[in-house]
Amino acid sequence: MLCNNCVLSTEDDSSLTLDDCGICNYCNEYKLEHSNKIPQSIEKIIAKIQQDGKNNTHNCIIGVSGGVDSTYLTYKAHQYGLKPLLIHYDNGWNSSEAVQNINKLVEKFNFDLFTYVNDWQEFKDIQLAFMKASVIDIELVTDHALVAILLKEARRRKIKHLLTGHNSASEAILPKSWYHWKNDSLNIRAIHKKFGSLPMKTYPYLSFWENYIIEKRKLVNNVHLLNVIDYNKEDAKKLMISEIGWKDYGGKHFESIFTRFYQGYILPVKFGVDKRKAHLSTLINSGQISREDALEELKNPPYKKEILDEDKQYVLKKLNISEKEFQDIMNLPVKKHTDYPSFFNKHYKWSKMLGKKFGDEFYFDK
Ligand SMILES: [Zn+2]
Repeated sequence: MLCNNCVLSTEDDSSLTLDDCGICNYCNEYKLEHSNKIPQSIEKIIAKIQQDGKNNTHNCIIGVSGGVDSTYLTYKAHQYGLKPLLIHYDNGWNSSEAVQNINKLVEKFNFDLFTYVNDWQEFKDIQLAFMKASVIDIELVTDHALVAILLKEARRRKIKHLLTGHNSASEAILPKSWYHWKNDSLNIRAIHKKFGSLPMKTYPYLSFWENYIIEKRKLVNNVHLLNVIDYNKEDAKKLMISEIGWKDYGGKHFESIFTRFYQGYILPVKFGVDKRKAHLSTLINSGQISREDALEELKNPPYKKEILDEDKQYVLKKLNISEKEFQDIMNLPVKKHTDYPSFFNKHYKWSKMLGKKFGDEFYFDK
């Protein structure tokens, strides 16, 4: 059954429920959260960042991916006179457009850029381990590392503020069964140990306790700046194209070729998940698209056939697996993340308490 307000249905997610009016829990949660929102003063936030970093070369960190959210965020940081250190996590899957976008951004504003390059053989080993484990959130490998590197660098350089590209205007809704908790470092280690073969050396791994201490002692402050300002993605794209020559490459998070293949092929074919539905449902709730237009857009396939074939060849070659090996992975029965050691089972008592606190905190524009 389809929600009367968005484009998600009960078949999409086991935790989706419809109320008497046929509205889903995600739409209701969105409405509740946004009606209770206290407007924050952007001037106060900027003043605090400047005050805390007055003796530092940089007063904040921005994780950049080449995508529109982080590009626009950097543009706003420049407008507000901030001195950000741009950090890019390179896991080996960048599209050339993403790299060009980052280069243009750095040239335009002359900000410092720190790129952390993960050893490719090692990253590949962890990523393949997740594929062989047959769990849904293969992107956990990248998302965890990205947060880890941002927090580690913030601590090392004594920078207090982390500007995130998280924005509820375009990414508030994500069905719970479509992803796993990004801080489940135990799950990453366990899956890698079982299915991987190389030691974990350069992967930016953040243990649960490192994370907990940073959070508990408020060592790094996450600033969701795009939530404070009025953020419209389409307007931002147009502005970035004209201001810095930013290049649009289609879908959300398509700056990584693996992400494009994962969202456009692995997720829908193996797990029956069309991630566009979550994105479009958020846009409906934030008033940026009509439900009719969203339903119309979903009639298009998630992937253009020519790009799919090209990406598939690229991904298989880069992962060094044959068509048969890939097909075997696709045919494996789907497993839950918690079928492997995880904070949600091994340390259940306190993870339930702490997980609630950490669970949905970290979303970054990749
Ligand atoms: Zn809904």
